Amino acid sequence: MTSHATGRSTRSAAVIGAGQTGVTAALGLLDAGFTVTLYSDRDQRALRQDVPATGTALQFGETQQAEAALGLDSYTARAPRHTGLSVRIAGPEREELIAFDGHFDGYAGVAVDTRLKADERLSLFLERGGQFVVDAVTPESLDAIAAAQDLTLVATGRGGLSDLFAVDTARTVYAGPQRSLLTVTVTGLGHDESVFAHRSRAGGGHSGFSILADQGEGWWGPYLHKDAGPSWAFLGWARPGSDWEKRFAAADSAVSAHDIVQQLYRDYIEWDLPEVLATRVIAEDPHSWLKGAVRPVVRSGSGKTAGGHVIASLGDTSAAYDPIAGQGAQSGLIQAQRLIAAAAVHEGPFDQAWIDAQYASFLAARGDAANKVTRLFLGDPELADIGNQLFATAAVDPKAASALVGLLHRPQPFLGVDSPATTAEFVTAATGQDAAELLGRFTPAGRFERSAFSNTLANA
Ligand SMILES: Cc1cc2nc3c(=O)[nH]c(=O)nc-3n(C[C@H](O)[C@H](O)[C@H](O)COP(=O)(O)OP(=O)(O)OC[C@H]3O[C@@H](n4cnc5c(N)ncnc54)[C@H](O)[C@@H]3O)c2cc1C
Repeated sequence: MTSHATGRSTRSAAVIGAGQTGVTAALGLLDAGFTVTLYSDRDQRALRQDVPATGTALQFGETQQAEAALGLDSYTARAPRHTGLSVRIAGPEREELIAFDGHFDGYAGVAVDTRLKADERLSLFLERGGQFVVDAVTPESLDAIAAAQDLTLVATGRGGLSDLFAVDTARTVYAGPQRSLLTVTVTGLGHDESVFAHRSRAGGGHSGFSILADQGEGWWGPYLHKDAGPSWAFLGWARPGSDWEKRFAAADSAVSAHDIVQQLYRDYIEWDLPEVLATRVIAEDPHSWLKGAVRPVVRSGSGKTAGGHVIASLGDTSAAYDPIAGQGAQSGLIQAQRLIAAAAVHEGPFDQAWIDAQYASFLAARGDAANKVTRLFLGDPELADIGNQLFATAAVDPKAASALVGLLHRPQPFLGVDSPATTAEFVTAATGQDAAELLGRFTPAGRFERSAFSNTLANA
């Protein structure tokens, strides 16, 4: 068989795992002229109805461009848009230290239910002639699959078949998870300027990130839920041994997760409380919550099956990120787009050297920076001084705030920041001002403005 686009023989690919990264890659390869078989341990209905979303999956401009390059909708017209991030930082004695509202400069964020995105892309894949096989692939069955394909991508998430790819010990800096996580998606709150109006004029257009030194971090952001549509997501991080960690561990349903979050805001983050009290559980989705922990791990881009067939890792199978800087879904989609663009024009075999070269190029272009920014937001001791300088300066100058939150969109500028001098260069490049002078102007916030939100929507 001959492909019209290139004149070469049609090549075949298998993708294992129908999460949002796997489905995106399968659809992209199909559109690039491959015959594609997508393997999933769940059928299409179960992928949408029987599991929680893998994560909040907030993503920004660079990732949206990767999706657009694949001819895919990035949901910017359907999802409520994030135009910035409001940050509040309190110290160990709950002293209210740092407040700023970083504007997203030239791009917007959207957080889309991974189940919705995977489901819609899977429907497109089937419509366009892709083959979908419901089968829990094992290392043994993978051997036979890879033997029959020109290219086999493994996108089975953090667990799944990830053990087939060696851990990159130089890039994997943590022996375990750095936080416990709790997330719940809710409704009952709009997205206009009257919501979270105490933080900034953007109101509900900004997501809010509160950092409590000894406990952890709490984030609220606009979200597109598969059933409820425009909604809100909470995501919390608890430090080991904290009171929050005990509270998060007690969650066992969407209702209990929601109760725990409301109580958390009563006890610790009262500046945002009225909005949080206005939210309601999404009754039609028992899987609208999730708890757990992620150890940040980077794996090899290639592996081999028992019979020696080469396979490529993709998405969370390649690298698992703590979600504190929102890098996982973004990285997976960018990795998929780059891999497909390279595969579409590649003339030779998809051997280990080719797969490793693509992966090295992805790590250089995105992955390494995404990991470093995740460590910054985790408050990694090695980056603590740099973090203190960046967060304090952000409280003084809106351009410094935009540059700091802009690292969630494009982490690359942070790769070269590794000392007080390079931190100062980063700040000066963003603000046009002397970094030391800006830092000298920092004063603690004193008291964060409190919400005076009145809950008209929820009371309606
Ligand atoms: C709480 C939380 C919040 C997050 N927030 C963000 C954020 O704001 N921004 C961001 O960019 N990222 C975020 N992430 C990360 C993001 O959600 C993930 O990186 C992304 O969804 C992973 O997609 P994936 O397709 O690679 O893996 P998955 O979604 O895990 O999909 C893997 C699929 O493979 C299937 N599978 C597994 N084993 C097999 C098998 N043997 N055979 C066949 N199928 C199999 C699974 O059932 C699943 O359907 C967050 C993560 C968490 C946990």
